[in-house]
Amino acid sequence: VFIAFEGGEGAGKTTQARLAAIWLRDHGYDVVTTHEPGATKIGMRLRAMLLDRDTTGLSDRAESLLYAADRADHVANVIKPALDRGAIVVSDRYVDSSLAYQGFGRQQRVEDVARVNAWATGGLVPDLTVLLEIPPRDGRDRLSAPADRIESLPDDFHERVRAGFRALAEADPDRYLVVDASRPQAELSREIQYRIREILPD
Ligand code: C5P
Ligand code: MG
Repeated sequence: VFIAFEGGEGAGKTTQARLAAIWLRDHGYDVVTTHEPGATKIGMRLRAMLLDRDTTGLSDRAESLLYAADRADHVANVIKPALDRGAIVVSDRYVDSSLAYQGFGRQQRVEDVARVNAWATGGLVPDLTVLLEIPPRDGRDRLSAPADRIESLPDDFHERVRAGFRALAEADPDRYLVVDASRPQAELSREIQYRIREILPD
């Protein structure tokens, strides 16, 4: 079982992914929690290239390919091996982040970004994707660390990312759970657990 958490900046993906993993472990499941970009050794270097504010002039296509490279390494070295041994994988971001940020956000053809990522991942799609939905300004207000290269892009970029995530969720309602991330943490985690229950093996 493969579960991805998606959403914009400061939506609380990391927190909710962690709470879901704790809950699953309490129920006796073998759970691997992971994240993108930067879950592998090479991935950490790609993450630094992608997010350092002193990275300038990176083209949109190169950015997309670096995210896809990180993801290919992530699938091959972390996600796939865990799924193969029967673990539940909970990932903080996956392909839909690239469709939203590099596709909708950077205004590249979403089908092109999707094709590159289908190849990078060998077509691996989550069983459930949880979208934590929040207006970009509210999300940004919740961030504590200084903004990275992408977070510091103007509001209209982040508005496109948000609209992109919503469009992706609407196009694939069976795979998605969309939650209002401004609600209390405990309420959200309960709603997410409820949905996860439906896809768990007995
Ligand atoms: O989730 P986290 O904040 O660690 O993600 C790292 C950064 O990478 C975020 O600021 C996000 O905006 C950016 N990102 C991106 N495209 C992706 C995934 C993440 O621009 N496909
Ligand atoms: Mg961020």
